[in-house]
Amino acid sequence: MQDFEEELKKYRYWNKVSVLSFILTITTILLYFWLHDEIVFFEYFKFVIFGLILLFLFTVYKVRYFTCPKCKRFFSISYLLQGEVYQANSRDCPHCGLSAYKKN
Ligand SMILES: [Zn+2]
Repeated sequence: MQDFEEELKKYRYWNKVSVLSFILTITTILLYFWLHDEIVFFEYFKFVIFGLILLFLFTVYKVRYFTCPKCKRFFSISYLLQGEVYQANSRDCPHCGLSAYKKN
């Protein structure tokens, strides 16, 4: 049996960065609208927000178009097309069942 751990590590990494950048983007936007009248420094936060949105879009692209190392098909296309709930977190490949988080 082949070991796909190295490729799946990349997938897990981009998935984590995607979630973190989403949380950071929302938090920064809220901070900006909450504090930008009081602190002049926060005027520059719009550039930070723009950068975070770009990072988030890039990571979504990396996760969305990740190809399964076992069957070489997209890792998360099935639930988007068929709306299958068990695939909503994209932990398993919808085509061959390779798990990104469990030992295969
Ligand atoms: Zn697969």
